[in-house]
Amino acid sequence: MTDIIQLLPDHVANQIAAGEVVQRPASVVKELLENAIDAEADEIKLIIKDAGKTLVQVIDNGKGMSVTDARLSFERHATSKIKSAEDLFQLNTKGFRGEALASIAAIAHVELKTKRPNDELGTAIEIEGSTVKSQEVIVTPTGTSVAVKNLFFNIPARRNFLKSDTVELRHITDEFHRVALAHPNIAFAFYHNGSELFNLPKENYRQRVVHIFGSKTNEKLVPVEEETEVLKISGFVGKPEYSKKTRMEQFFFVNQRFIKSPYLNHAISAAFEGLLKNGYHASYFLNLTVDPKTIDINIHPTKTEIKFDDEHTLYAILRSSVKHSLGQFNIAPVLDFEHQDQFNTPYSYKDKVGKTPTIEVDRSFNPFADDASVSRGSSNSNSSKTSFKSAPTANWESLYVGLESKTNHKQEDKLDVNFEKELTTETIFSDASVETSKTTFQLQQKYIVSTLKSGMLIIDQNRAHQRVLYESFLKHITIKQATSQQLLFPLQLSFAPNEINIISDLKEDLEHTGFVFSDVKKETITITGVPVGVPESEVTIILEQLISDVENDVPDANFSAADLLAKSMAKSLAIKNGQVLNNTEQEHLVNSLFACKEPNVSPSNRPTFITMSTDDIEKKFM
Ligand code: ADP
Ligand code: MG
Repeated sequence: MTDIIQLLPDHVANQIAAGEVVQRPASVVKELLENAIDAEADEIKLIIKDAGKTLVQVIDNGKGMSVTDARLSFERHATSKIKSAEDLFQLNTKGFRGEALASIAAIAHVELKTKRPNDELGTAIEIEGSTVKSQEVIVTPTGTSVAVKNLFFNIPARRNFLKSDTVELRHITDEFHRVALAHPNIAFAFYHNGSELFNLPKENYRQRVVHIFGSKTNEKLVPVEEETEVLKISGFVGKPEYSKKTRMEQFFFVNQRFIKSPYLNHAISAAFEGLLKNGYHASYFLNLTVDPKTIDINIHPTKTEIKFDDEHTLYAILRSSVKHSLGQFNIAPVLDFEHQDQFNTPYSYKDKVGKTPTIEVDRSFNPFADDASVSRGSSNSNSSKTSFKSAPTANWESLYVGLESKTNHKQEDKLDVNFEKELTTETIFSDASVETSKTTFQLQQKYIVSTLKSGMLIIDQNRAHQRVLYESFLKHITIKQATSQQLLFPLQLSFAPNEINIISDLKEDLEHTGFVFSDVKKETITITGVPVGVPESEVTIILEQLISDVENDVPDANFSAADLLAKSMAKSLAIKNGQVLNNTEQEHLVNSLFACKEPNVSPSNRPTFITMSTDDIEKKFM
């Protein structure tokens, strides 16, 4: 038998290795920006075309390279940043693997121009798929410019795998944010297809955060400062009332390197405990400084995870300093000492006024009357909660009592009334309208129950309404003729620049649903019309939900902005669980659901209703 193992040709090995470093244009952006920072530049320019698919270029004013270094920089494992394995444990640079330029050169067309401060002339090198095409002496400013063109030109499969420009640009913007936030003392500019997205001067940290996330961010920042032997913390957390549905504004930097750490994130959540509404996340921009010897950065190929020697201590310090800051700024109800949770008032109760308990007396109750319906009076006597209880014929209803939600008393009252209404109308009247009012009822303010010829139908009110709204929005967006209602006063809303970008991308589709934008600026949008039926008070919520959905969605190949928009708006506007519906509303919802094209599932593909046949029910009684 012949031997079967052979060494891979260099260019194949290079391409495989490159795949680990470069997944998408944003990876190139990250590597080039980091190289510029390691070169001690204090002005860095990022230029992108077609979301990086055509061009990613980074120009810095750093220390440049000699002719030999310029050539060597493209070799694999060629680095000026570490010399021995020990150096790995005292890293002061972003890079150290010496792989980035080699990887990028394996899968793109690269043009490097570089000059050191004391050299008269610089060097230009062109490389295509790891092959050097040209090298010359040129006149060029001090510093380095690396232009990466036609990424993945020689790996069509990977090129096809890239997402839409919108998505790729978002990844690039994320990387840019991370690097720019970690280095406020460096000036950054960022251009996409010729237009300027960011122009950040050298500034302090607060100014940097505000420049990136919009001027309204300023008022929401609470400083966090702490210095202990093992850890220095500086930065900001966002006030709880400005918390967001997205996790977009959560940043940890360790020794000026962006990291992801679910564990440390938990420390922040713990500090915010009781201050945030359900589903909302705290914003934070925190710089942690630790001895490089106590961390291991080598754990992850793209280096956003690191290992700490003593995570528990960091957790404790972080949690208590954030808590302390929130307390100092009068935000937290309880300060830094140990406390029992049950004494804390939940934040959502902050503005609520205490309610005096009342005793309800049924004034019309007559123990000598034997006909209960007389005392119950007309069917719409909403306030007569107790009359329900006094009705001796209503015994069967007690079956339901235990099922009622105990949390919302107001709604509980209404629910009682609903039952009573049905019962009363049934016994007193017998005209046709009563017949229909009997066909549905609401269970636990969550389900609508209706009878079928063959059994019973249970509809999830929230999902059903999402389906109805989703199909209607989608129709409006596609046929482009929704009606809008004009607002009396234009509504001005502020967002972070990248949030504005998301809204501008969807502007046209939003307009087809009925939104009218009079102005979209860098940080504010002005709305003069909203879709018919959308309350003005919901507009912010809709747009925030939309931004969060776009951010969290990992759009696939058949990603459609219209679909996402329709889903998101349906989610924001659909009837919620816990909302009481009267009979007409219940029936209207049932009818609209079954008029849909796909009534069976919600927009996120979950069942909208279940049925139970008489057989099923009979089996249960066996
Ligand atoms: P690493 O950053 O891990 O060392 P790279 O492949 O990114 O590996 O870069 C290889 C080497 O090229 C670096 O160690 C550095 O000496 C040099 N280099 C890369 N980019 C620049 C730049 N913008 N300015 C100066 N030198 C650079
Ligand atoms: Mg590098």
